[in-house]
Amino acid sequence: MEDKLYEGKSKIICSGPNDNSFIIRYKDTATAFNGEKKAVLSGKGKLNAAISNLIYAYLDEHGIRTHLLRVLDETSVLVRKAEIVMVEVIIRNAAAGSFSKKYGVAEGTALKNATIEFSLKSDELGDPMINESQITALGLATPEELSEMKQQAFRINELMCALFAKADIKLIDFKLEFGRCGGKIILCDEISPDSCRLWDTGTDKKLDKDRFRRDLGNVLDSYRDVLGRLENVCKI
Ligand code: UDP
Repeated sequence: MEDKLYEGKSKIICSGPNDNSFIIRYKDTATAFNGEKKAVLSGKGKLNAAISNLIYAYLDEHGIRTHLLRVLDETSVLVRKAEIVMVEVIIRNAAAGSFSKKYGVAEGTALKNATIEFSLKSDELGDPMINESQITALGLATPEELSEMKQQAFRINELMCALFAKADIKLIDFKLEFGRCGGKIILCDEISPDSCRLWDTGTDKKLDKDRFRRDLGNVLDSYRDVLGRLENVCKI
């Protein structure tokens, strides 16, 4: 039986079958505002696992190195053991959330170019924003690692924008995490409606975690909608 190594807000990390792997189990817990708002949304784990696995398979097919080794069951995946870089990478194609608030730009305003920003992965400190010279100064990543993470993040954005466009979804923004594995930077953690802002192209209906954050209702119906659309476009 595997050991539980760490329980996070939405996932449990367990030891894998060997020293080079972990098992990640998706939970049904939803949290927002650094854990202040919490709920159990029964079935969320399955939906996020399915959505993330689909996106990971697509990114893998397009040459992105990721931690995913194998899907184990509806809520569990086997992943490469990586040392997580303690920096979250946020890419934006349109203004929303903290960007809209900070810069006074209406949500949904298209940006002339995709932006990248970083935050320190620390629940205790509330994930404060951090810049590139601060990241390297604190030894959170080397200049080479940072450059690789940036390059991969913009490439992933191009690939994901194309995928979601086929599903009639606008990719407004999203958060990525990377890890070190065998001397390389690889993509880690989930990519799901919990970590992306996804709007219906025709109506701008929100299909992501903002439904939970802002009490808009039908959270899981929207996640199911995202999965259904991705399954359709990935079939072709
Ligand atoms: N995000 C995330 N985890 C975090 C912070 C942000 O997955 O700890 C995602 C969030 O869902 C959104 C994007 O990153 O898709 C940009 O988030 P933003 O900075 O606007 O923060 P928020 O409005 O969520 O506070």
